[in-house]
Amino acid sequence: MGSGVQARLFGVLGDPVDHSLSTAMQNAAFTAAGLPHVYLRFRVPAVRLAGAVREAKALRMGGLNLTVPLKEAVLPLLDGLTPEAQRIGAVNTVLFGADGRTRGDNTDGEGFLRALRGRVRVRGARTVLIGAGGSARAVGVALARAGAAAVTIANRTPSRAERLAERLVHLGGGTTVDTLPLAALARGGGLDDALLVVNATPAGLGASTIPVRCAATPRDCLFVDLVYARRPTPFLAAAARAERRTLDGAHMLLHQGALAFEAWTGRHAPRAAMARALRAAGLALTEPRRARTVGARRPPSRQA
Ligand code: NAP
Repeated sequence: MGSGVQARLFGVLGDPVDHSLSTAMQNAAFTAAGLPHVYLRFRVPAVRLAGAVREAKALRMGGLNLTVPLKEAVLPLLDGLTPEAQRIGAVNTVLFGADGRTRGDNTDGEGFLRALRGRVRVRGARTVLIGAGGSARAVGVALARAGAAAVTIANRTPSRAERLAERLVHLGGGTTVDTLPLAALARGGGLDDALLVVNATPAGLGASTIPVRCAATPRDCLFVDLVYARRPTPFLAAAARAERRTLDGAHMLLHQGALAFEAWTGRHAPRAAMARALRAAGLALTEPRRARTVGARRPPSRQA
């Protein structure tokens, strides 16, 4: 075997992490790129994160991803942050320098924007963001930096929505930012001129969902769920019933993963091979012109 590259260990840390599809996607990417690396899942509760980062350094790992609930908890444990991770205030990708120093990056926001390409024009659009956790921060920063006219944040805990709103206002890009009680969405609050509605909460992984009056949006509004699953989430199923376009989190998973691969390896990500691995795992990954939710065979069970 002759890539001439030393085999390294990569992995995703989270709790829970058992159902992450990043392993299938990143291992397919390494194989397609002819790299001898291996990517594994590690269940790491927040209280054990500091030890896990120390061990990753000692093992000279090639890179890490972080998922729920570790994206913010990891901040003080790293030697540095990229400007994007600083803006967002969360890390989903850790880079290990040749000197062993760790740098936190965040590919969720850019991955989200790439998933939207060909589906909706964010510049000038009025948008609604449900959630104010780590991924909502990445999405909110991405929307503001992409020139959205407005971001309305609705979150179960209103104070957290206010904190995210302040962060977005401080970016200073001219996007109007406001907040809304979560319950207002069921009455159509904030929806009448929204071209994009994003669910950035794990609600909908099971049978329950956040009630939204989807029919109150313009007919060309796109509903996006960051949750990825093998059949439409309740959030997207409700949007499809109102005859609105839908997109699940599989596309963002693919693009944030491709960006992480490129940051770790310095090589162009083999996106087609990564997409094939996700499809083989049961995700639909529809193309832009067929962006309505496509039903699949098995129940929803996946998240980053
Ligand atoms: P997080 O930091 O824990 O934030 C969770 C957010 O969801 C908070 O705003 C929380 O509200 C809200 N929430 C949780 N349960 C809720 C419920 N039952 N009803 C209403 N709101 C609820 O998590 P995260 O990192 O942002 O991740 C959120 C989701 O996005 C996860 O399912 C994750 O898998 C998915 N994700 C997908 C991708 C992808 O590539 N597709 C990337 C990143 C994340 P409070 O503030 O009130 O607690």
